Amino acid sequence: MLRKVLVANRGEIAVRIIRECMDASLETVAVYSKGEEDALHTLMAGEAVCIGGPRPADSYLNIDNIISAAVNTGCDAIHPGFGFLSENSDFARACEDNDLKFIGPAADVIDMMGNKSAARDMMKRAGVPVVPGSDGPVTTAEEAVDVAEQIGYPVLVKASAGGGGRGMRRADDREGVIRAYSEASAEAESCFGNGELYVEKLVEDPRHIEFQILADSQGNVIHLGERNCSIQRRNQKMIEEAPAFGFSDQIRKKMGAAAVRAAEAAGYENAGTIEFIMDDEDNYYFIEMNTRLQVEHPVTEMVTGVNIVNEQLRIASGLPLSLKQEDVRISGHALECRIAAEDVYRNFAPCPGRIDFLHFPAGNGVRVDSAVYNGCEISPYYDSMIAKVITTGGTRLEAVRRMRRALEETAIEGVSTTLPIQDLIMYSRDFLRGTYNTGYMEKHLQEILDIYEAAGGRNESTDRK
Ligand code: ADP
Ligand code: ADP
Ligand code: MG
Repeated sequence: MLRKVLVANRGEIAVRIIRECMDASLETVAVYSKGEEDALHTLMAGEAVCIGGPRPADSYLNIDNIISAAVNTGCDAIHPGFGFLSENSDFARACEDNDLKFIGPAADVIDMMGNKSAARDMMKRAGVPVVPGSDGPVTTAEEAVDVAEQIGYPVLVKASAGGGGRGMRRADDREGVIRAYSEASAEAESCFGNGELYVEKLVEDPRHIEFQILADSQGNVIHLGERNCSIQRRNQKMIEEAPAFGFSDQIRKKMGAAAVRAAEAAGYENAGTIEFIMDDEDNYYFIEMNTRLQVEHPVTEMVTGVNIVNEQLRIASGLPLSLKQEDVRISGHALECRIAAEDVYRNFAPCPGRIDFLHFPAGNGVRVDSAVYNGCEISPYYDSMIAKVITTGGTRLEAVRRMRRALEETAIEGVSTTLPIQDLIMYSRDFLRGTYNTGYMEKHLQEILDIYEAAGGRNESTDRK
């Protein structure tokens, strides 16, 4: 059994994990960077250790300092959250080398899935459908062109080490591939220190459908159903829902079985997510596996009643999963809006600053996972997401109504956020119909901004600042 857990993260996910540890009667240690002495995760944990300067490389990405903090405070496990070191196999290895249980899969599994091109090959071998594309990485622009001409345009040139929507470029012809190749490899080199690329057929405006997986150390693997995460900007999610609207039990069963097969093939342990894209005809293709807790895990928790972070702690303790596949029931509907401190008029540029006034919604069917409070500073050094507003309902429409109510109840003053956009999406026809896909934002953003401006929303938010 675990006794004391170091949470190697910050922001809302560190708070989410600390809360779960407290509920499970585990002791907690937070790590924080200089300037985050008063951050919620620092204040909430039983103990807190400063691990370096505000730049991520100096603190939340500093493996040596985090391991020392865990050893010095007598921890027996580390939860990496998401982002930062959560998919870093060197970190997982450093944990094991120091007798600290890494709450996630084995380092070798992280390595294998972290290379998206290698993961594709493995899924193909396991009989999981993948998007047509290159066999393994391509090493020159010419090779990328050859693959593209074979599978047909348009294509996506993608970084093997990619994540967070970075390192991928669309190409519609030969010249496009040559340009995409050099741009994507440069971006991947600078973001991930690895410029390796592969080529995939671009599926026009697919839905992003992903399956939550849980796997214990006894070899039991289950899935908790799907999430539709197709409302994206810059290939990054903004709104997620579970279950996917209009999904039949039959397709859920089929894709769920493929997701379980994928996790089994990888020798997976702990919580993970298998991401697919799906075309208009319900053909689905594996795109990647995220070997960690996912930002949008709460929507799955709300419709299955399964506490995913608690399952992670149980699995890391060597306990079996608390339920079997046949016990998983999906009931009702859940939505999540990721509220980011960003300026929607400047292409979602991060908008750090001080929150002068804050009021979060509450009431029946509303959950808020956040780490901000009245008067706190939003740091320019970290991801711009500041809160997740989650609503549930017996039906999708009830969850939508509650989301409208919850977002309208929310007041965040001092910084611009994505909230007004998400609020208006809750009234938009394509969203209400549930027929939306990853092309939604490109198609509708300008119209939504125009409506917001015409209704006086833009002035109102500038006045408040
Ligand atoms: P998920 O499907 O879980 O959102 P992402 O790859 O979009 O997966 O991102 C996971 C997390 O990684 C984000 O919520 C954030 O904490 C971190 N992250 C992603 N992109 C960025 C980025 N551009 N800058 C900093 N952190 C990022
Ligand atoms: P990341 O590691 O950055 O999350 P993914 O491979 O998961 O990258 O892709 C992120 C998003 O990009 C997907 O959710 C989808 O919207 C889009 N995308 C990825 N691959 C394809 C593809 N082959 N065709 C169309 N869209 C894609
Ligand atoms: Mg992804």
